[in-house]
Amino acid sequence: MKIAVDFDGTIVEHRYPAIGKEKPFAIDTLKQLALEGNELILWTSRDGQLLQDAIDYCHKRGLDFYGINSNRPVGSLFEGRTGSTSVKVVADVYIDDKNLGGLPDWGTIYEMIMLKKAQKHRKRSFWKRLFGKRH
Ligand SMILES: [Mg+2]
Repeated sequence: MKIAVDFDGTIVEHRYPAIGKEKPFAIDTLKQLALEGNELILWTSRDGQLLQDAIDYCHKRGLDFYGINSNRPVGSLFEGRTGSTSVKVVADVYIDDKNLGGLPDWGTIYEMIMLKKAQKHRKRSFWKRLFGKRH
């Protein structure tokens, strides 16, 4: 799944432009989700040096992103917004402290994503059952 994740107030406490304390289990949860094959997109209004600070903060803790404010992988030819007029990052889920209803704790976020994945799988299995090959 593509998971867009905000930085300030979500991965760390909101102390913008400084970097606040890590939210409990945020980095470990994201690392686990990346390990499980999810594509993590850093989805933040930070740019320039402040964006780099956030990327470095995560990198030092072993967390690297598939994309940075972009659906294109880091290092790809059209990384960033070049070549497209759309500014929306497309993802299966968005994790943001400004979520309607607020930001759950990271244990709950992990469970919610696992549930969504299972539902997605069940949906696919249903269509596979209907139209897929028999074996
Ligand atoms: Mg935020």
